[in-house]
Amino acid sequence: MKSGHRNQSADDADPVRMTRELVRTPSVNPVLEAGGAGEGEIAKLVAGWLRGWGYRPVTTEVAPGRFNVVARRGAAAGPSLLLNGHLDTVGVGEMAAPFSGEVREGRLFGRGAADMKSGLACVLNVAARLAGEEIPGELIVAFTADEEHASLGMEALVASGVAADAAIVCEPTSLAVMPAHKGFLWIDVFAGGRAAHGSRPDAGVDAISHMGHVLVAFEEESRRLARETDHPLLGAASLHAGTISGGSAPSVYPDRCQLVVERRTLPGETAERVMAEAVRVLAVARERCPGLDARVEAGLYRAGTEVPVTSGPVEGLVSACRRAGLPGAVEG
Ligand SMILES: [Zn+2]
Repeated sequence: MKSGHRNQSADDADPVRMTRELVRTPSVNPVLEAGGAGEGEIAKLVAGWLRGWGYRPVTTEVAPGRFNVVARRGAAAGPSLLLNGHLDTVGVGEMAAPFSGEVREGRLFGRGAADMKSGLACVLNVAARLAGEEIPGELIVAFTADEEHASLGMEALVASGVAADAAIVCEPTSLAVMPAHKGFLWIDVFAGGRAAHGSRPDAGVDAISHMGHVLVAFEEESRRLARETDHPLLGAASLHAGTISGGSAPSVYPDRCQLVVERRTLPGETAERVMAEAVRVLAVARERCPGLDARVEAGLYRAGTEVPVTSGPVEGLVSACRRAGLPGAVEG
């Protein structure tokens, strides 16, 4: 059924044109790069397009200057499909022309062209095409803020009660279908020492050297994970040191050292379980370094996710890819 209220048509929703306009609308995550634009302008752009196709998008400020845009159509009584993309990008660093959206030799250039303004354009194209159709269930289009840092937008979306029977996140995957995704936990490790002048080994306790024992024990744990964990699509769980800091001067025993370890989790691994492992790692380090004064704290955690490869959305995407002449690979 054609809606008579739309003042734009699906023909206006060319994905390349929209990707260009999205790239030309900076939305650098301001937490990652000082002065980053955030999602204000890009939220206005996508909401405007959606309105033009007859949707009633709702824009929500999830944190100062940070916006989600959600639009729905169809009957809530039927099965629901959520299409998601994030509006923010990482920083531009030294890029020469980050917001040009220039097309050269069949490629579109600019920050976020791949991750994930082209994905947003695909979602928008679907929204435009379905705008005039009767659909048997509900379509929920959800564009979220802050995916590149702490996922404030997705957290707010979930907290708002939005739920769906199936969801497709249009992140770049080289057109593979990815039904499984690792999660992560950031583990803060604090080691204490005793400050003293470098000439006073009798008084000083070297927190950085002590942390060395902790690092080695974590490295052994990473080898254990490689040996003992496995997932058919995701492989083994892993961990690595992310950042380390400590010490005040070459001639002073450092009284503290802080390490952040990132543990990549498999679906089903909880933060509690990973923290219990981290406590065991500390116990190993303490055996080797009896004076070790160290503790671990859980930082940001995002669970891994998976849906069965035999589920409707996965099989549907694979067959859609094949119809389009694409391999339809299933990866993690
Ligand atoms: Zn992304």
